[in-house]
Amino acid sequence: MTEFDEYYSPVAWWLWLKPRAVNRSSQRIEPADRASKSSQRIERANARDRASRFPQADRADPKYRPNPMSYPVALALSPPRAAYLHIPFCRRRCFYCDFPISVVGEFKTFRDRPDQPPEPATGRNSAPIIEYLSALEREITLGADRAAADQPPLETVFFGGGTPSLLAPEQVDRILQLLDRRFGLAPQVEISMELDPGTFDRAWLAGFLAAGVNRISLGVQAFQAELLAACGRSHGVQDIEQAVALLQSAGVKNWSLDLISGLPNQSIDQWQASLDRAVACGPAHLSVYDLIIEPQTVFDRRYQPGDRPLPSDEQTAQMYRMASQTLQAAGFQHYEVSNYAQFGFQCRHNRTYWENRPYYGFGMGATSYLAGQRFGRPRTRAAYYDWLNNGAIEPPASPQSVPDRLAETLMLGLRLAEGLALEPLRQEFGTVWVDRVLQCLDRFAAEGWVVRSGDRLALAEPDGLLFSNSILAEIFSTLEQEP
Ligand code: SF4
Repeated sequence: MTEFDEYYSPVAWWLWLKPRAVNRSSQRIEPADRASKSSQRIERANARDRASRFPQADRADPKYRPNPMSYPVALALSPPRAAYLHIPFCRRRCFYCDFPISVVGEFKTFRDRPDQPPEPATGRNSAPIIEYLSALEREITLGADRAAADQPPLETVFFGGGTPSLLAPEQVDRILQLLDRRFGLAPQVEISMELDPGTFDRAWLAGFLAAGVNRISLGVQAFQAELLAACGRSHGVQDIEQAVALLQSAGVKNWSLDLISGLPNQSIDQWQASLDRAVACGPAHLSVYDLIIEPQTVFDRRYQPGDRPLPSDEQTAQMYRMASQTLQAAGFQHYEVSNYAQFGFQCRHNRTYWENRPYYGFGMGATSYLAGQRFGRPRTRAAYYDWLNNGAIEPPASPQSVPDRLAETLMLGLRLAEGLALEPLRQEFGTVWVDRVLQCLDRFAAEGWVVRSGDRLALAEPDGLLFSNSILAEIFSTLEQEP
C-alpha cells in the first residue's frame, strides 16, 4: 500500500492517500506522470462538483478524536509506533493495478516435481517470496539497530501488498516475532493483514491468528462474477463467500471488506447490490474506493477516463453517496474519505497516516515517515535488494517550507470526518497562512462542503469528502502564492 517517493508533490501525496483501488495503492508518481494524474483526478472531481448534494452529517467518533494540541510537528518528530510491511506478491496483476508487486503466478512451484500436479504459489514453495522475506528481515533488523534508544513498542503493524495471504503462517509468525524482539509489540497492538479470497483456507487463517494477526482486510472489490473477471481479479464470488464463512467460523470480529466503485460496465444496481451484500457479510469496517485509471495498466490501454464503459462522473458521484447512505443506515460511521467503521473499529494503523504521525515502512516500495522525512523504497525487487546491500540508506531530511508543511497537514487531516483543530495550526504555521486558507474555503463553505464548528475545520459528509480533491486543489493553489 504505501508508496511515496523522492518526487514530492502535495497533490501526488494526496493522490497516494486516495482510495485503494487507487490507494492501496501506492503508486509511485513519476515526474512525467504527476501532472496528468493530478489533473485527471481534479478534472474528475470538478465534474462531480456539478452534481447535487446531500445534507451533511457529523458522525465523528470522539474515541478517536486526536488531541487538538498535539500536532503536527511534535507528533511527526516523535518515535514511530507503527510499522507497515509490504508483501509485494500476487498470483496475477489486476487490470487496474500499478502497485509495486511481482507476479508469482498461479501454479509456479519452487520444487521441481514433474510427477506431481502443480500447486498455487505460496510463501512455502515460491523461491522469490522466500528470498524476499529474508531481505525484509534484514531491513527490519537494520531499522531496529538505528531506532532511538527510547523507541516505544509498536502499537500497530500492517501487512499490506500485494497479497500478504500468500505468506505461510509460520512466515508471518517469524516476522512478528522479529518485530517483537527488536521493537516490542504493545499489549493492545493492532496487527492488520490483507487477505485475498481464494488464497487462504481454515488452517492458513488459524495460523495467521495464532501468530498474532487480529485485524483482517479482505479484498473483495465486487460481488458480481462478470465485474471481477473484467477487472482481472484472481478470485470469484464463491471464493468471497468461502472467505467470509472462514472469517465468521474463526470468530474474527475485527475485519474489513474492500469494494471498488466506478468499474467498467458497473451499473448503479450492481453497486447497490454489492453494498447490500457487503453489509450482510457482517464486517466491522468497510473501505470503498473509486476506480482511477492508472497509467500503463491494462485499463489504461482499454479505457479513456470519462468514456463508456466507465460510469460517468455523475454516476460515480452517485455511487459515493449511495455508499454513504447505505453504510451509515447500516450503522457504519463514515470516518474518512473512503472508510466506514462500526463504533470502535476504525483502523488504528491508517489513522497514523491521517494524523501525520511517524511510521516505519519496510519492504520494496514501502514508504517510511521518520523524523519528518518521507522516504519511498525502490519499487522493484532487484533495486530494493541493491539498496539494502548498499546499507539501506535513507537520504538526509530536507527542510520543508511552511506552506508545504501546512498543505500536507491539511491534506491528511481533512480526510478524517472530524477534521482539524485550527488553533494548533495557527500556532504552528502562523495566522497569516491559516487565515488565507480559511478565506479560500469560503466558497466551499457556502456550498456546504466545508464546515467550521468552533475551532474545528472539516469537510462535510458526504459531499465535502466526495469533492475533497477540488477543495484541496484550491488550498494548494492558495498556498503556492506569496502572502
Ligand atoms: S491483488 Fe490485484 S490490486 Fe491487489 S496488489 Fe495484487 S494485483 Fe494489485
